[in-house]
Amino acid sequence: MNANLTLRAQTAISLANPSEVMARLRDHFIEHGTVSGTDDNWRVVFDIGVAEALAGEGAIRFSVAAADATSLAYLQWGVAEHVSEFAPGETPEIVWAGGAQPGAPLPYFREMRVLRATQITPRIRRMTLKGSDLERFSHGGLHVRLLLSPEKGVKPVWPVMAADGRQAWPDGPRPVARVYTIRCIDVDAGEVDIDFVLHEGHETPGASFAREADLGDVVGMIGPGGGELREADRYLLAGDETALPAIGRMLEEMPPGKKVIALIEIADNAERQELQTQADLDLRWLPRDGQAAGTTTLLADAVKALDLPGDDSLFVWTGCEHTAAREIRTYLRRDCGLPRRSNLVAAYWRRGVAGEVEEHD
Ligand SMILES: Cc1cc2nc3c(=O)[nH]c(=O)nc-3n(C[C@H](O)[C@H](O)[C@H](O)COP(=O)(O)OP(=O)(O)OC[C@H]3O[C@@H](n4cnc5c(N)ncnc54)[C@H](O)[C@@H]3O)c2cc1C
Repeated sequence: MNANLTLRAQTAISLANPSEVMARLRDHFIEHGTVSGTDDNWRVVFDIGVAEALAGEGAIRFSVAAADATSLAYLQWGVAEHVSEFAPGETPEIVWAGGAQPGAPLPYFREMRVLRATQITPRIRRMTLKGSDLERFSHGGLHVRLLLSPEKGVKPVWPVMAADGRQAWPDGPRPVARVYTIRCIDVDAGEVDIDFVLHEGHETPGASFAREADLGDVVGMIGPGGGELREADRYLLAGDETALPAIGRMLEEMPPGKKVIALIEIADNAERQELQTQADLDLRWLPRDGQAAGTTTLLADAVKALDLPGDDSLFVWTGCEHTAAREIRTYLRRDCGLPRRSNLVAAYWRRGVAGEVEEHD
């Protein structure tokens, strides 16, 4: 294994048919990493580390290695999730040796406190959260899952490490989870900025947190997650206001010389923001001007109006409402014939549905 991957964990998982499960896992991981070896003894190199599997008598022996505690815990979690998924009808017992101890805080969890709130535009409120040991949140994904109090003034319990590498919950009030983007991070100061859309809706734990939180209020943060931009000479970044934090950060981090078209759907022109970039940027705001979020075809129409190449000289990144995401994904892949590796289209929210949208890419 790579010399930098100094953190390791192992487990042996008894299964009725280890070879079959190993084959399914291997096929699945081909999409997520570089797989080598034989059917009975393979290894996968991921961005975050390495997983090795060896078929034994009635069991698979897994060994995972990573450079940091978050990546190691993600690998353990991934193995447990996928083995359970690919061994239907079985409830395999999974106990890891190495990695965080059962009951210990999750390596990818931080308790944060509200430090500042700043109204960026009428519809966007930036919450600055303070915590410690944030270096791992500055790379390897832009997004976090915020764990919000189920009720103002109630401090929820936080998840801890389970023996199988997943999460266990102590007794007590559980938080409500919502996914957000780290718009800006200052590791030395221990601060992250999160831009919340103050959208309409009856019960909106995420937006309500931004509206109502007091300085010092506590919030849990799990992450980072999600992909980062793939290397290309040209980019199309398309999204509504929920994706504006991600687009803003990607533009800020983009090196000079890249050509970028950014299409951003907003409520109206009061929602325009100054975006900093060294890239050669063609920025187009798409105001809904009175139409409700998630009801227009503005973004899909703007994507369709572009003359896109059918190869991977361009990388397309999109984050928006579910229906628009579907339409854009279908257009890019079916109508334009863009290869899958050259586009990432994510549903960031779904009109009429609370909480996380399962469908990604
Ligand atoms: C990877 C990722 C990154 C994200 N980053 C951000 C971010 O940085 N900032 C941000 O504001 N959002 C972001 N989102 C979107 C955010 O998670 C959703 O909008 C989420 O539903 C908000 O939770 P809530 O508790 O406010 O509303 P929910 O309880 O989830 O939903 C309540 C109602 O509000 C509706 N609703 C939800 N979002 C909107 C909206 N934007 N406009 C109109 N109606 C809405 C729902 O359809 C539902 O009917 C991100 C999502 C993903 C997947």
